Amino acid sequence: MSTLRFHAVKESFDRGPLKIDFKERRSAIFGSKVFNEMAMRQYLTKEACNSVMDANRFGFKIDRTIADHIAAGMKEWAISKGATHYTHWFQPLTGATAEKHDAFFEPVGGGVAIEKFDGGQLVQQEPDASSFPHGGIRNTFEARGYTAWDPTSPAFIYETTLCIPTVFVAYTGEALDYKTPLLRALQAVDNAAVAVCKYFDKNVRKVNASLGWEQEYFLVDSGLVASRPDIVLTGRTLLGHSAAKGQQLDDHYFGTIPNRAMAYMRDLENECMLLGIPVKTRHNEVAPNQFELAPIFDEANLAVDHNSLLMDVMSKVAERHHFKVLFHEKPFKGVNGSGKHNNWSLGTDTGVNLLSPGKTPMSNLQFLTFFINTIKAVHDNEELLRAAVASASNDHRLGANEAPPAIMSVFIGQQLSSVLNELENVTDGKLSPAEKTDLKLNVVGKIPEILLDNTDRNRTSPFAFTGNKFEFRAVGSKANCANPMTVLNTIVAKQLMDFKEEVDVLIEKKKLKKDEAIFNVLREYIKISKSILFEGNGYSEAWEKEAKKRKLSNNKTTPEALKVKVSPKVLELFENLGVMNKIESQARYEIEMEDYIHRIQIEGRVLGDIARNHVVPTAVRYQNRLIENVKGLKEIFGTEFKELAKEQLNLIKEISSHIESINSNVTKMIQVRKEANKIEKVDKKAMAYCNTVKPLFDEIRYHCDKLELLVDDELWPLTKYRELLFVK
Ligand code: ADP
Ligand code: MG
Repeated sequence: MSTLRFHAVKESFDRGPLKIDFKERRSAIFGSKVFNEMAMRQYLTKEACNSVMDANRFGFKIDRTIADHIAAGMKEWAISKGATHYTHWFQPLTGATAEKHDAFFEPVGGGVAIEKFDGGQLVQQEPDASSFPHGGIRNTFEARGYTAWDPTSPAFIYETTLCIPTVFVAYTGEALDYKTPLLRALQAVDNAAVAVCKYFDKNVRKVNASLGWEQEYFLVDSGLVASRPDIVLTGRTLLGHSAAKGQQLDDHYFGTIPNRAMAYMRDLENECMLLGIPVKTRHNEVAPNQFELAPIFDEANLAVDHNSLLMDVMSKVAERHHFKVLFHEKPFKGVNGSGKHNNWSLGTDTGVNLLSPGKTPMSNLQFLTFFINTIKAVHDNEELLRAAVASASNDHRLGANEAPPAIMSVFIGQQLSSVLNELENVTDGKLSPAEKTDLKLNVVGKIPEILLDNTDRNRTSPFAFTGNKFEFRAVGSKANCANPMTVLNTIVAKQLMDFKEEVDVLIEKKKLKKDEAIFNVLREYIKISKSILFEGNGYSEAWEKEAKKRKLSNNKTTPEALKVKVSPKVLELFENLGVMNKIESQARYEIEMEDYIHRIQIEGRVLGDIARNHVVPTAVRYQNRLIENVKGLKEIFGTEFKELAKEQLNLIKEISSHIESINSNVTKMIQVRKEANKIEKVDKKAMAYCNTVKPLFDEIRYHCDKLELLVDDELWPLTKYRELLFVK
C-alpha cells in the first residue's frame, strides 16, 4: 500500500479550521505597521516629514542630513512596534522578493550596546548580490550592486523586521530589479499625461498611474502537496488523471468558502490590514480549491509592492494553516488556470480619473483622448504587451486551451464602439460650427457618466475597457506586476507624447482650434487602430483566422513571444523614454529566456524521474500481481484458464505497452535535452527546449495517466487529482 499518499490524505481529512479571533476593528488596525503619514507626523520633525511627502508627490531628492533625521524617527517608531532588525526590501529579477536582515543593535565598546540606524543605512546598502540574475550586466561592468531607498513606497514592519522598499541597481546604474524601470516608466507617463492634460486643465501638475490587481490562487493541503514531488519542485502537477468531477457543475465559483480556507483568508486579511494592503474582495474562483483576493486600487508602484509583499505573506500565513498556496498559472490540467488581472487607469492630482467619462462635453473629450490613445498604444505595441506577460508557466494559459488567447486585442463594448464610429467621420481640417455643436451634443455629450458596460462584458478579452479603467487580463498569477505595468505605462507615455506633438502641429501650422486639432488626430488614430478592437469570443478558431488577416501577432510560446523585446523598435522605445537602456533591455531578455530554459529543464527532469521511479515500478508491481493471478488460474483450471483470465491477460499486455511508451519517451526526452544543452545561444536553446523537449511531456503524461486508471488504487503512490482538488 502506498503509505505516504494515504497518510497524507488521512492527515488532511483530520485537520479542521484554525480559530481566528479578532478583537479590533479592521479600520482601527489598518496600516498600523506602516510608516505612513500618521506615523511620520508623530516621529519626524515637520521638515523631515515634508521632505518625505515631497519626494513622494513630486519626486524631490532627500538630502543626507534630513535622511539622518528620518532614519532616527523611523528607528524609534520601528522599535516601539517590536522591530529588532531592518532590511532593504527589493524585487530582483528572480520574481521573488529579497531581504537581508541586519540588527539595529551595535556594540559601542566597554560592554555597552546601542540601537543604531542612520541616514546612510536608510538610503543605501551594498548587498552581496552576485547571485542574483543580471543577464551579463555585472560581468561586463562591476561586480557590485546596491540598493537605494524608494521613498514613494512607505517602510513597513513584517514580523520583527523593518522593511525599507528599495531599488536594486548595478554599480554602474543599470537596473537589476523590477522596480527601477517601473519607476522610470511611471515618471514618463506622468510627464506625457500632464502635458496632454494641459489642453483641458492648466492646473494639473501630476498624473499617477493606478493599479488594482486581482490575485488568483489555489489552496492545497500542505501534506498532500508534500506527497507530490512535481508540485514541490515545479509548482504544478506534471501528471495525474483528471478527477471524474472537475468544474463541470460550476458549483465552486462564488460558492460558500470552505471552513479551512475561510480561516486562512481571515488570518491573511488581518495581516494585510496591519501592512496597509487594502484587501477588500475574496471569493471562490471557477476551479475547485481556487480562490481570488483583490484590494482597492492604489498608485501603481505601491500596488506592485503590495502584490509582491502579499504573495510572500500568503505563503507564510498558509504554513500556519497547513496549506500550500499555488501561484502557478496552471497547477492542474483540465480545470481553469490562475491569472492576475491588472486593472489600470490614470488619475490627476486634481482628482480626475482620465479613463472615466465626465459630466461635460469637454471632460468627455479628455476621456476620449486618453481612451483612444491607450487603444492606439496597444495597437502599435501588441506584440510587446504579449511579451510582457510571457513565461513558461503562463504559456499554459495564453495560447493553450484557455482564455485569454495569446493574441492581444481590446474590448470596448457596444456604446463606445459606436462613439468611435461617429468620430471616424469627423471632417478633415476645420470643422463647421454646426458639426462642432453636433459632436458636442450628440457624440461626446452622449457618453453616460457611468459607463459600466456590464451587459456585454467580455471575459475572454485580454485587454478590456470596464467602464472607468482598462483591465489587462493576460498577466499570470505568478508574475510580478511590475513588468506588464512598465510596458503598459511606457507605451502609453510614448503614445501621448506623439499625440501632443501631432496636435500642436495642427494648432500651429494649420491654425486649427485646439478641439478641432484633437478631433482630427483622434479620427486618424481610430482608423489606424481598428484592427486591435475585437468584441467577440477571444478563444475561438474563427478569431485566430481573423486575427491573422488583421496581421496581429499570435505568439503562443515564450521563446517566440520574447523575441520582440530585442527588436530595434522596442530597444529604442525604452531607451528614448529613459525607461531602460539597450544593455538593460538585452539583459532582461537573456534572463527571461534563461528562466524559460531552466523551468522546462527542471520539469523534464522531474517528470522523467517520477515516470521511471514512481509510475513504472508501481505498474510492474501490479502487473506481477496479475501474472500471479493468471498462473493461479492456470494451476486450478488447466486449459480452461485462457477464457477465465482473458481480461487479466489483456491488462498485462496493455500495461506493458504503456510502460514501453513511457520508457522510450523518457529516453528520447533525455536525448533531446542533451542536444538542447549543447546549444550556446540562449534564444536557439530556448526554442529547442520548447519545440523538442516540452512536446514529450504530453506523450509521457498520457501513458502515465492511462496507467493511473488501470493500476490498483491502493498501490498508486501519487496523490490523485480528486484528493488534491476536493479535500477541503
Ligand atoms: P471584477 O473585474 O472582478 O468584476 P471590478 O471591475 O469591480 O471587479 O473591479 C476590479 C478591480 O478594479 C478592483 O480591484 C478595483 O480596485 C480595481 N479598480 C477600480 N477602479 C480602478 C482604477 N481607477 N484604477 C485601477 N484599478 C481600479
Ligand atoms: Mg476583473
